[in-house]
Amino acid sequence: MLIIKNVNLIDGTGKPPVLANILIDQGKIIDAGAHVPDIAHADVINAEGMTAIPALSDAHTHFSGSSLFNRPPLGRREKTYDFAEAREACLRWGVTAVRTTGDLMPDILEFRDDAAKGKQVSPRIVSAGPMFQARGGHPCYTVFGADKEIESDACIIIDDDTDIEQKVKAVAKLKVDWIKVFYAHINKMNYPEPVPRISYRTLERTVNAAHELGLPVMVHVDGADEMADAARCGADSIEHMLGVGADSTDFSEELIGHIVKKNIIVVPTMISILKFDAKLPGSVPVWEKLKAAVLRFKNSGIPIAVGCDSGIPLVMHGESVHDELSLMVEAGFTPMEAICAGTNGNAKLLRREHCLGTIERGKDADLLLLGSDPLKDIRHTKDIKMVFMRGKIVYDNLR
Ligand SMILES: [Zn+2]
Repeated sequence: MLIIKNVNLIDGTGKPPVLANILIDQGKIIDAGAHVPDIAHADVINAEGMTAIPALSDAHTHFSGSSLFNRPPLGRREKTYDFAEAREACLRWGVTAVRTTGDLMPDILEFRDDAAKGKQVSPRIVSAGPMFQARGGHPCYTVFGADKEIESDACIIIDDDTDIEQKVKAVAKLKVDWIKVFYAHINKMNYPEPVPRISYRTLERTVNAAHELGLPVMVHVDGADEMADAARCGADSIEHMLGVGADSTDFSEELIGHIVKKNIIVVPTMISILKFDAKLPGSVPVWEKLKAAVLRFKNSGIPIAVGCDSGIPLVMHGESVHDELSLMVEAGFTPMEAICAGTNGNAKLLRREHCLGTIERGKDADLLLLGSDPLKDIRHTKDIKMVFMRGKIVYDNLR
């Protein structure tokens, strides 16, 4: 039994903070709040002056990728020491769950299962299967340079003639958590010459086939027109909104209304766009438009998830989640809204809201102790004193 005493508690539900005690036992939160009495015979952490928030998650990562340019874009378990860069950075930065959105099979799924069994010290992993995409299209034939291993083990090439239902069934058999589809045309290697994109019909068939098997679908888009198509065909989450070099940037009221009605979660990955904005020769910046669109979406009631595209060059695992929160606040979120999005909101996207996302009775004891108040300045989420995952201290900068 462990008690965290006198902590400023931000529980992830959006309720205003209270001075509270948090009681933890066997990996679970037994109780949390102002009403929780002091308990004798418990280990004590006196957290006076500190703030507790639920542990964070990353809704869009490439867990086997690296932020460094001199590493393979996607790595095997044995070559990356079981994705050490990602799992160590995530835990150190208080990110105890990730949704990984394109990696080499079967490594990521086997690792996910090992992590779930406690054989690996790692954040929880929710994983997409291989990436469904067009022949000649993004990302296999652009950023991955038609790499043979990535083509065969991280991608599924589809077109109008493909037996999509059979392909989706085969991927579902691998026990993936999500299906990922690319509906994108921007050529990041030779802008502005577009690359082939799957047809709307093929996108729709893929989404339908996945839903038939009970699998949610995330759709990667480059801009507003593609987002409208992704929303129309029933995507469960839409990734990126406005990509680097986007040439369609106007989101109609009709589209926003449709996304609200269908409860589609949008994952803008602002940090990854900012890092590469206007870096493609000949491309115009999209950053200001992206910020305005994210705020407009939020104000319309669209759930915005906190995902980074970490594991691509320049976008670090773990720490980027905090940068994404800061960028959301820069766009017009309150710090409280950003924190709730990166905890409770993400937990819903990951289908883990029964055990993650808030500091409440019965949830897994995944939380951060911060040395300063993130409601005063969102950058204080980086002032981490301790990280708990399932009640265990996985990072300690306090004792
Ligand atoms: Zn990505």
